[in-house]
Amino acid sequence: MSNIRFEALKNAFEHQKEVQKDKCQTANDKRVKDYFATDVFTREKMKEYISAEVLEQLFDDVDNGRTIHRDIASVVAIGIRKWAVEHGATHFTHWFQPLTGGTAEKHDAFFTLKNGVLMEEFSGDSLYQQEPDASSFPNGGIRNTFEARGYSAWDPSSPVFLIGDTLCIPTVFVAYTGEALDYKTPLIRSTAALCHAAREVCAYFDKQVKHVHANLGWEQEYFLVDEALYNARPDLMLTGRTLMGHNSAKSQQLEDHYFGAIPARVLAFMRELEYEALKAGIPVRTRHNEVAPNQFEMAPIYEDVNLANDHNLLVMSIMERVAEKHHFRVLLHEKPYAGVNGSGKHCNWSMETNTGINLLAPGKNPYQNLQFITFLVNVLMAVHRHNGLLKASIVSATNEHRLGANEAPPAIISVFLGKQITEVLDKLENASAEEAIIINAKKEMKLGVANIPEILLDNTDRNRTSPFAFTGNRFEFRAVGSSANCGAAMLALNAAVAEQLMLFKAEVDARIEKGEAKERVLFDVIKKYIVSCKAIRFDGNGYSDEWKTEAAHRGLDCETSVPLIIDRYLAPESIKMFGVTNVLNEAELHSRSEVKWETYVKKLQIESRVMGDLVINHVLPAAKRYQTMLLQNVLAVKQVFSADETASLNEMDYNIIKQLEHHSGAIYAGVEAMTEARHKANRQLDERSKAIAYHDTVLPLMADIREHADALELIVDDELWTLPKYRELLFIH
Ligand code: ADP
Ligand code: MG
Repeated sequence: MSNIRFEALKNAFEHQKEVQKDKCQTANDKRVKDYFATDVFTREKMKEYISAEVLEQLFDDVDNGRTIHRDIASVVAIGIRKWAVEHGATHFTHWFQPLTGGTAEKHDAFFTLKNGVLMEEFSGDSLYQQEPDASSFPNGGIRNTFEARGYSAWDPSSPVFLIGDTLCIPTVFVAYTGEALDYKTPLIRSTAALCHAAREVCAYFDKQVKHVHANLGWEQEYFLVDEALYNARPDLMLTGRTLMGHNSAKSQQLEDHYFGAIPARVLAFMRELEYEALKAGIPVRTRHNEVAPNQFEMAPIYEDVNLANDHNLLVMSIMERVAEKHHFRVLLHEKPYAGVNGSGKHCNWSMETNTGINLLAPGKNPYQNLQFITFLVNVLMAVHRHNGLLKASIVSATNEHRLGANEAPPAIISVFLGKQITEVLDKLENASAEEAIIINAKKEMKLGVANIPEILLDNTDRNRTSPFAFTGNRFEFRAVGSSANCGAAMLALNAAVAEQLMLFKAEVDARIEKGEAKERVLFDVIKKYIVSCKAIRFDGNGYSDEWKTEAAHRGLDCETSVPLIIDRYLAPESIKMFGVTNVLNEAELHSRSEVKWETYVKKLQIESRVMGDLVINHVLPAAKRYQTMLLQNVLAVKQVFSADETASLNEMDYNIIKQLEHHSGAIYAGVEAMTEARHKANRQLDERSKAIAYHDTVLPLMADIREHADALELIVDDELWTLPKYRELLFIH
C-alpha cells in the first residue's frame, strides 16, 4: 500500500536536487537600473507617449487630488494602449481590492467590433470605468444581489503596469450609490483627510507646506513549503494553515535560522521574486531569513501609502506565481504552524511634507523640533483615543492565532517610545511655559527643555513585544497580519490622526484668537496632551500577565475575542471620527463589520470541516491500523509464550492500545460535538452572533481535537502516518 506522505517526501527531495540550478538567468546578467520598472508606465515613459500639455494637466490634477476630466482620460488612454501593446499586451483589466482580501481582475481584450469590423481599441471610458458585475464580492448589505452593480474606477495616482500579456489599471471599487466596496477608496480618502489636517497644523511652523502625505514601508513575512508536501496536506491547501501536527523535536529553539545563510533553493526563488518585483517598479531591497524555520521576509524602500499598498498586494501575487515555478508554495497565513513564530507585516508609517520634511523626525531648529513634538504627541493621542479601533483594523480569523501568542504583538494596543523620547516628553510635562519656550530679543524661539538630538539613536532594542513602536523617525505598526491588506490598518491610522490634528488645531486656534501667543498655546496644549494620553505609552514586556492587568487598569481595550473587537468599528467615537474625516460613513462601517464577521464565520466553518475530514479520513484510520498491528502481536505472543510470560511481554502493547483507544475515542466524540456546535452556530440569525458562536464554541473544540490528534502522531508507527509532519514541512528547503 502506498503512503501519500512518502510519495510527497520523495518528490520534495527531487525538487531540492533539481532547483539547485539558478533559474533566473536574466536577473544575473543585468543590473537593477536596467530593468527597474520596465513593466510600469511611469511618468517618465508617459512623456514619450502623451503630449506635454495633457500630462501637465494630468499630473497637476493627480498631485492635488482632483478628479481627472474625461477628455484627459481619453488622450491618456491612447498613450497607455500604445505603450502596452508595444510591450506585448493583448488584454487589460481593472485591478481592485475587494473586501475579501487579495486583488481581483476581470480581463477584457483590446478590441471591439464596430459594424462587424474588428477594431483595436482602448477608450478613455475603458480606462476610466469598468463594471465587473461583481455580485459575489462581499458588500455587507450595501448591494442586494439583484442590484449587483458596482463599478471600478481608475486611480490615476498609482501607475498602470503589465503582468504578462495584461495591462493592469489600479482602480477603486464602489457601489453605484457611491459607497466604497474595497480598501483603496477609504485609503485614498484617509490620505486626503490627513493631508488637509496635517497641512493646517504645519502652517503654525512653516507656511511653505502645501501637501503632506503618509509613507508606508511594509515588511512582508512569509513561509515557504515544498509543493509536494503542501499538496499532501489538505489543511494547508484549503485553509492556509496546518490544523494539526506535532511540534518538531528541533524547531526554532536555537534561533539558528534567523538571519542565517539563505538556503540555495530559497535564494533562487528570492532572486526571481526580486527580479519580477523590481520590474513591476517595487523597490524591494531587503531579504532575510526570519525566526522560524522556512520563514522569510522581504521589504522594499518606503513609498506613498497608496502606492506602497498596491505594491504589497502585487508582491503577494507575484510571490505565489514565482513560488510555483520553484515547486514551492508560499504561505501568507499569519500562523501556518502552531508552536513556531507566526508572520506579520510590520507597517512603517510616517508623514512627509512636499518640502521633504519628515514630520516624525527631529529637526534642525527649534521650530522644526516643536513641530516634531506636536506631530508625535498628536499621533499618541490618536492611538490612545482609538486603540480599540486600531486593533479592530488588524484582527481577522487568521491573525487571531498570532495575536497574543508568544511571538506576536499582544491583543492590546500600546505605544513604545524608547528612552530618549520618553525623557523629552517627561521634561516637557514637568516644565513651565516660561522654561520651555524662550523667545529672545530678536524674537527667535528656543526650546528651553527639550534637547532633542537631530538623529535619534536607532534603538535596536526596539522592544519586539510592542504592537506600535516609535523607531526613530516613524511608527511601526507591528500588529498587522501577513495576509492582510495593510490598507485596512493604514486608513484607520490616517483617519484617526487626521481627526486628532483637526481637534488640536481647533483648540489652538480658539486660544490664539483670544490673543494668546502662538508658541505658548502650542506648548500648553501639547503638555496637556502628554498627560492625558499617558496610558497608551508602555515600554515594558507586552507579553507579560502583569501588563494585561495594568492595561485593563489604564482603561485600554483588552478584548481578545475577534468578533467582539470588530464591534469597535461601530463605536460612537469611531463613527464620529470616520464621519468628520469623510473616510467612511455609517452605512459603510456597518457593511465593513458585516463583511468582517461573515468572513470570520466562513473561515472557521471551512477549517472546522477540513479538520473533521482529516481526523476521520487520515488520523483515525492510521490509529486503527496501528492498533490492529499491535493486537495481532498480542495474539501471537499469547500463542507462543506461557500465560505468565505473556502478561509482561504484552504490557507495552496493552499500554499503547489503551492510549490509541483513548485519543481515538476523544477525537470521535470531539468531531461529533464540533459538528453539533457548528450547526448551532449556523442557526444564529445574524453574522455577528454566528461569529461569536464560532469563536466561543467551535474554536475551543477544534483545539481539543487537535491535542488528541497530535498525541496520536507521536505514538502511531511513522510508516502509517499519511500527513507530512512538522519536521518535514519546516526543514525541507
Ligand atoms: P526593521 O529593522 O524594522 O526590520 P527594515 O529596514 O527591515 O527595518 O524595514 C524598515 C522599513 O521601514 C523599510 O520598508 C523602510 O523603507 C521603512 N522606512 C524607513 N524609513 C521610513 C519612514 N520615514 N517612513 C516610513 N517607512 C520608513
Ligand atoms: Mg523587520
